[in-house]
Amino acid sequence: MFEEQGLSTLKLVRVGQSVRRSELDALSARIREAFAGLLESVDHLDYETPAVNEIEADLLTQALDEHFGGHILGITDVDLLDGSATDFFRFMFGCKDNRSHVAVVSTRRIESRDRSRSIARLLKVGLHELGHNFGLVHHYDFVPAADGAYCPMTKGDYNRHGERSYLRSVIDARGFRFCDACRRFLRLAHTATLGC
Ligand SMILES: [Zn+2]
Ligand SMILES: [Zn+2]
Repeated sequence: MFEEQGLSTLKLVRVGQSVRRSELDALSARIREAFAGLLESVDHLDYETPAVNEIEADLLTQALDEHFGGHILGITDVDLLDGSATDFFRFMFGCKDNRSHVAVVSTRRIESRDRSRSIARLLKVGLHELGHNFGLVHHYDFVPAADGAYCPMTKGDYNRHGERSYLRSVIDARGFRFCDACRRFLRLAHTATLGC
């Protein structure tokens, strides 16, 4: 079922042109920091998709899995559709495929006029989805991490907030470090397997 193998190398896959090289470098550094001791390397790759405005998240994660395989975070500027959702809440900030170690995030709905805020949001959603790759689950209560912000696995009630309010109240309030409970889980569940 849940294979630990291959989690030590993350493939950071740029789907489209939504982030610059320098921003990818910064994202990699923060991701490695958050998963300290678990990630040996982060490879940067590009993947071309046809020019579309939206794509079913399932299809994208499957395509990335077939094309690259392994532990992947895809970053796209295309809207991610939840094929199973009702009309109203059909777009996602990010998601993780349960059948693989592929997670994707979209810059489409997290963009702010302030570029650094957009990148911070991208990182926060990315850490959350990668957390799922490592077996972390949601916190439905607001759990602070070492940096005082909420743990990236914090999940508010999207349906109650709606998109803009969820961004500001939940995603912006998350930090870049996992809480003690998540860090303990990561250490116990993965360090032995990864030989760190
Ligand atoms: Zn989640
Ligand atoms: Zn946590």
